[in-house]
Amino acid sequence: MPMTSATGNRPLIYGVTLDEIKEWLVQNEDKAFRAQQIFDWLYVKRVSSFDEMSNVSKELRQKLASEFRIDPLKEITRQESSDGTVKFLFQLIDGHAIETVIMRHNYGNSICVTTQVGCRIGCTFCASTLGGLKRNLDAGEIVAQVLAAQRFLDIDQQRASHVVVMGIGEPFENFDNLMAFLSIINDNRGLNIGQRHITVSTSGIIPKIYEFAEKGGQVNLAISLHAPTTELRTQLMPINRGFPLEKLMEACRHYVAKTGRRISFEYGLFGGQNDQPEHAELLADLIGDMLCHVNLIPVNYVPERDYVRTARNDIFTFKNILDSRGINVTIRREHGSDIAAACGQLRAQHAKETAG
Ligand code: SF4
Repeated sequence: MPMTSATGNRPLIYGVTLDEIKEWLVQNEDKAFRAQQIFDWLYVKRVSSFDEMSNVSKELRQKLASEFRIDPLKEITRQESSDGTVKFLFQLIDGHAIETVIMRHNYGNSICVTTQVGCRIGCTFCASTLGGLKRNLDAGEIVAQVLAAQRFLDIDQQRASHVVVMGIGEPFENFDNLMAFLSIINDNRGLNIGQRHITVSTSGIIPKIYEFAEKGGQVNLAISLHAPTTELRTQLMPINRGFPLEKLMEACRHYVAKTGRRISFEYGLFGGQNDQPEHAELLADLIGDMLCHVNLIPVNYVPERDYVRTARNDIFTFKNILDSRGINVTIRREHGSDIAAACGQLRAQHAKETAG
């Protein structure tokens, strides 16, 4: 039973599945059915202390408190955009800061969660990787982000209906905690976020794509692709050296064949780098025969890097080429353009400020 924490502290109870709580209760000579009551307090009533679990005996509450933490993530700062996007910077128990974002869509509220403190993948367009990887989050710390966002949404009686695992970190490098997280938020006795409403995005850790094809159920998979040739992808994403494009495409084809599910490709448009008509044609050659969807992401200027925004006309030209080749393509709507909404920007800003 993974009742461990990434920090050596008592683990957050949010990282424990309903079945594991049952097991723990039985080991502690209590009734398994109480697990359902505890889950209800945690995820439906959303209490923030064991003492509030009024139909649970005092003795059991004390046992729970001696074994688990229940404290919510500490909010360091919060930015709210005029378009409704909310970006939180949370502090973990060991002082590290992580980002979580609420994005508003016409189909619901989507929560973007972080899976690692920092990242070691080294994508050249990403602020989150600049300080390297500090540590993995445990499952409880990932679930706690959704819960914190849900508590914020509770104020307006709204629901976190979708989750995207696209925040800081490479989720497939923290696979076991990712899988526990997915199972906990999907549980219909808890937060009940449907698998089809969850998307996990990877930079392309090939062996884990094969594993996810087996274990991911109906959860959506997105690949950060960003380039149509292996040379260009290596320039933008050094991970392409270890996991080259050709092998990545094999893994994606396997995923689609195995699951029957459509795969998504994230394609950031970086001015002058990968956003020209010839790149669109090459991309269509690469993925045109696959059950897939392309999400074009006009990338903001990244202060730490030299990339600039693609001109509006070029964005539409790129899209039209993919359209004309029969590829399902959308342009991602910008969220929170008036706040530090690009991945890692708020955390980087905070690190600068606290460094004095
Ligand atoms: S884009 Fe994602 S995988 Fe790449 S460096 Fe940033 S956090 Fe890591």
